Amino acid sequence: MPRGVLPLLRPILSSSSSHLPITPSVVRSFSSTSRSFLATPAGRNPFEPRNTGPKKISPGPIKTPNPRESALADSTTSGSQHQGHELSQTSSTAADQWPDYSKGPSALDKASQLFFFTEIVRGMWIVLEQFFRPPYTIMYPFEKGPLSPRFRGEHALRRYPNGEERCIACKLCEAICPAQAITIESEAREDGSRRTTRYDLDMTKCIYCGFCQEACPVDAIVETQNAEYSTETREELLYNKERLLANGDKAEAEIAANLQADHFYR
Ligand code: SF4
Ligand code: SF4
Repeated sequence: MPRGVLPLLRPILSSSSSHLPITPSVVRSFSSTSRSFLATPAGRNPFEPRNTGPKKISPGPIKTPNPRESALADSTTSGSQHQGHELSQTSSTAADQWPDYSKGPSALDKASQLFFFTEIVRGMWIVLEQFFRPPYTIMYPFEKGPLSPRFRGEHALRRYPNGEERCIACKLCEAICPAQAITIESEAREDGSRRTTRYDLDMTKCIYCGFCQEACPVDAIVETQNAEYSTETREELLYNKERLLANGDKAEAEIAANLQADHFYR
């Protein structure tokens, strides 16, 4: 409780009647209390608007020094402390290291460039160079560019040289396929080996990430270098096991050569 409020309340508390006794002492107490209550320690009126903004303006970003100016300034300021001969050598070396390009070419250079059309000559020289250079474009589909051995195109299922299909129905490719484009069903054969009875691949879902090829432990599912298998209907891109095995039979030599070329990195 503020220090001056207690004398104000004392007459009220001590009075037994319900009315406030307005006496000269009460008025004096009230006026002194209100003054002390409103006054701040600094003696400032608290109802005046305060300046809450920043008291100090911070300096801006540090300016990157110009090496030439710095060298000249150093030579000027330190000239009084050291021998002038050494400093003139230092400043001239620094100025030579950092030539001043701010003024651009001289008027003579500009006039000569304008008079002899050097910009046009330089531009025509570049045109001439490009004219005799082999073209960057190719006449697809009659010409085709080189493909990497790691190119990921149409899928295929491979066989062993004796004609047995490689796939052992481990379903790793089905599990790893992020697009869930592969569906496999399998059963055991009479000899106990496990083989797929169904291997469907929805090429409209495939994103050609190559994960199925990477996951396969026997190099059965691969992506060939064939990228020209566009179709007119969506159904033609729903490959079954027979279609994938046919792709593998057709491109086996190419697939084997590409795997051989890439085996150092696998
Ligand atoms: S390339 Fe990728 S998206 Fe396509 S079938 Fe293989 S794992 Fe699935
Ligand atoms: S293609 Fe390879 S990864 Fe996929 S089920 Fe057959 S063996 Fe397993």
